[in-house]
Parts: sequence; C-alpha cells; structure tokens
Amino acid sequence: MNVDTLRDEARDLLSDTVELRRALHRWPEIGNDLPVTKEQVLGALDGLPVQITQHQTTSGLAAVLDGGKPGPTVLLRGDMDALPMPEDTGEAFSSRVDGAMHACGHDTHTAMLVGAARLLSARREDLPGRVLFMFQPGEEGYGGADLMLNEGLLELGRRADGSESPITAAYALHITTMLPTGTIATRRGPLMASADTVTIVVTGRGGHASAPHQALDPIPIACEIVLALQTMITRRISVFDPAVVTVGRIAAGTTNNVIPETATIEATIRAVSQTTRATVHDAIRRVAEGIAAAHDASVEALFTDGYPVTVNAESGADFALGVSRELLGAEHTVTMPNPIMGAEDFSYVLERLPGAMCFLGATPAGRNPLTAAPNHSNRVVFDEQAMVDGMAMYAGLAIRHLAPAAP
Ligand SMILES: [Zn+2]
Ligand SMILES: [Zn+2]
Repeated sequence: MNVDTLRDEARDLLSDTVELRRALHRWPEIGNDLPVTKEQVLGALDGLPVQITQHQTTSGLAAVLDGGKPGPTVLLRGDMDALPMPEDTGEAFSSRVDGAMHACGHDTHTAMLVGAARLLSARREDLPGRVLFMFQPGEEGYGGADLMLNEGLLELGRRADGSESPITAAYALHITTMLPTGTIATRRGPLMASADTVTIVVTGRGGHASAPHQALDPIPIACEIVLALQTMITRRISVFDPAVVTVGRIAAGTTNNVIPETATIEATIRAVSQTTRATVHDAIRRVAEGIAAAHDASVEALFTDGYPVTVNAESGADFALGVSRELLGAEHTVTMPNPIMGAEDFSYVLERLPGAMCFLGATPAGRNPLTAAPNHSNRVVFDEQAMVDGMAMYAGLAIRHLAPAAP
C-alpha cells in the first residue's frame, strides 16, 4: 500500500484534530472514570466504519476497523486521562476544571488516534487486516491499560463471527516537548522504567529527648537507612543495568524534646530490567532489616508494585524507526541511546504483545527542546503541528504492519 500521501492527508485533518484536542483540553478528567472525554471520543468516531466496545469497569473504548481484505489485527494505543494539577499556560483553551490539566499531552494522543482512525477508514477497502484503536483511561498511575487487558481487550483479536484475526503487534506514541517537532524517537529493549514504591517504618521506643539511652530513637536509624540505600545502589547494581532509589519523604517526631516511637521513609524505585528490579527490592529489605537489627529496633518495609518496565521488542523498535524514516525522513528519526526513568502503563500491553512505543517531538516554535516546559509542567505547551506527524505515524505503523513495503 502506498503511504506517500499520508502526511498530506493528515495535514488536511489538522484543523479538526486541533479542535478535538482543544475540546478535550478544556475538560480534563483524571483516573479511570472519564465520562465527558468518552462522550467526546464517541462523538468524534461517529460515522466511521468502526465497531466500538465500551469497557465496563472503566471509560476505556476499543474501536475495531475491519479492512476489506483478510489479515491479522494491529493495536494502536492512545491514552485519555489528565493530571491532578493547576494549568498556568495562559492558552485560550486552558482547562476549565479546577485542579486538572492535560499536562502529559494525552489529549493530543486521543485526538491523533481519532485522526488515524479517519485516515485508515479512508483506506479500508485496501487494508489487509484489522486495526484495534485502544482509547484507555488511567495511564497516570491508575493502571487503565491493565484493567482493559484484564477485561478481555485482546479477545477483540477474534471477529464477531468467531474467526481468528490475532493481534500481532501493538504501537503507541507519546508526545514530548523534549524533542524537536516532528521527530520520532525510540529504542530496542527497555524504553521506560518500572516504578515501585516502598514505605519503611522503623519502630523504636519513645521517651525523653534528654535520656536517649532509656528510649530507642528511630530517627538516626532511619537516617542511616537512607544513606545506606544510596551506597547499596552504587555497590550492588551494575551501572549498565541501572536503578534509581529516591527517598522523597522522611517523617518522624513532633517536637525537639520528645523521642518518637517511629520514623517513616517513603521512596520510589526505578529500574529498567526485571532482574535489577527484583534485586533492588531484596536489597532494600536487607539493608533496612540489617540496620534496624544492629540498633535493636524493628522495621517493616512495605513494597507497592507500580508499572513494569516498558520493553520494546527489537523487531518492533526497528519497524517503528523504519516507518518513521519512510514517512518523516531519516533526519527526523532518532534511535535513543538510553531509556528514560519515567514509567508508562503501555508496559502491560507490551508484556503481552510485540511492538513498540515511540516519542513524538512537539517543542513549540521558537523554543528549545532542552529548556521548554516539560511534560507534567503547569506551563507545558505542545506544538499542535506535530499532530500531523503523529497521525501519519499511527496510520503508517498500522498500514506497514499489515502491508509491508515491497523490498
Ligand atoms: Zn504523564
Ligand atoms: Zn503520559
């Protein structure tokens, strides 16, 4: 299939896409329940030849486009949720909801995925297979992708008549102001980190601050644990398979002349391999228990697993970079040297399907990608022109997966 005109077709859709994106932006919703967003997406998909499944436990939507020719199914993901924070961009289409903002650009993902559904619907007759558009809620810490998978999303790899059309790959884009507009960047293997949390409670014995020997002060023990965790990371973890442990909160006591009973440490744990992730969990427990035992205190370390490592299949990353070179040119296609230590729940999809996630550059005109307000900033502004490239990429990934370019 020919993709030469895909970007021009996407450009023709830009004003509609901007309009949808701004409508979503004005009305950001947080978590897995996004009733307004869902209605906007349903309205935008209205009239397209797609079969829509509304998920029961969340506001997730799956739309399937059945091509005119037989073939497998390819999944394209767009997330729809916003962040709990104020907006200070000064844009005319700024959030009208107090304390909520589309600061991660998921509004652009949703609008671009709708645009891709339009581009692909126009080529439906020639499409040898099916495209599953996954509109997911709850990416920002609510595990929306996992909930959709658990509710049977992948069963949509079967047609209504029961015939198989297996889902053979999954792709997602993430917009970022840290890359120039119209750049696609990704890499083989780990792209983003796992993000777990640990709460460590050191329990001693309260007492008078003037007589610490009659009490058991948990505060110096907690401080020793914080320092020992950093030593553990540099001494136990390979620099070539890195991990980050950041203690973001330490809390104890009420006043200067009282020794409290407990001290609490909260930390985030990032890793880019399952092995290192497990090693760090074990080591944190050992360090905390060892130091507490040395001082005759007790300790409890409570781990909460967050998103797993986002791992691109080698074939998926190579394929996506190839599609980007074909559509946007080699000069706009970047192979990333390193993963980034943020986390992403598309990781759950990539645990089950081969594929890749790519970053899409969207630095506003006249700004520097190194200094522009980043994703999650109350001042982040995305260059809407980048949505042309994003729509073309989404559609191109599906087309080229189903109909590879002739060698
Ligand atoms: Zn985010
Ligand atoms: Zn995001």
